Amino acid sequence: MNNGFDLAGKVAVVTGGSRGIGAGIVRALAGRGARCVVNYVDDGDGRNRGEAQSVASGLRDAVVLQCDVGDAAQVGTMMDQIRERLGGLDILVNNAAILRDRTLKKITAQEWDDVLRVNLSGVFNCVRTAVPLVRPGGRIVNIASVSAFLGLFGQANYAAAKAGVVALTKVAARELAKQGVTVNAVAPGVIDTEMTRGLPAEALARLREQIPLARLGTIDEVAHVVTFLCSPACGYVTGQVIHVNGGLLMP
Ligand code: NDP
Repeated sequence: MNNGFDLAGKVAVVTGGSRGIGAGIVRALAGRGARCVVNYVDDGDGRNRGEAQSVASGLRDAVVLQCDVGDAAQVGTMMDQIRERLGGLDILVNNAAILRDRTLKKITAQEWDDVLRVNLSGVFNCVRTAVPLVRPGGRIVNIASVSAFLGLFGQANYAAAKAGVVALTKVAARELAKQGVTVNAVAPGVIDTEMTRGLPAEALARLREQIPLARLGTIDEVAHVVTFLCSPACGYVTGQVIHVNGGLLMP
């Protein structure tokens, strides 16, 4: 019986689903009954593929697909594979992203381009290519960041890309509404993942001091909000940014 949160019969793809928040989102969507595609990007030594396979192995009928979201041709191939193997798409979660933090004095053109390519063009590539595949009642959730709103120190590339994701979310929400597809963004604050473990300890401590809930968020706390936005119950929410940040930012 569909209780408004049941995702049985839905096909979901999560970019960067091999670890961190993406893997948590895959598990949460699958826990509600969705059939999940776990996307990973090839790293040459098979580590990412292994991690994606291990996420998929615990789930019923999950599929693992390689694709660099920054490469439009690879995204096209992934969407073709989803159409052929799974028949269509109901949920797209654009989660894949990279960090290359550097102050404006030191940042290289390459570091700027790399982050914009994966974190912003990657979302554009996936949304644009998924449009013909997404069935009515579909859901797109883009993972943004508190940095898009606070402009965190050393994150010119990352914050600009994530602000672009927020704008893209609103445009897509307007354009896809008549197709019966909602498009929203989730903006996590500081979440305990490999990405934040790579930040300097001092910077992390300073951030923690500013969080009213006085702790980092968990992967599950982000994944549950994404799952809610993907649920049939959430049909009248579109073009919104949901902040999951322990109060760090109250817009
Ligand atoms: P991780 O670095 O742990 O995971 C990032 C994921 O993105 C990995 O699965 C990685 O795949 C994948 N990825 C990277 N490049 C590509 C690419 N070109 N194509 C496909 N996949 C790629 O990050 P988090 O889990 O911490 O972050 C997940 C999302 O949440 C990101 O969008 C991030 O910006 C956002 N976020 C995170 C916050 C945090 O505090 N952690 C705060 C705010 C936002 P692989 O393992 O295969 O390399």
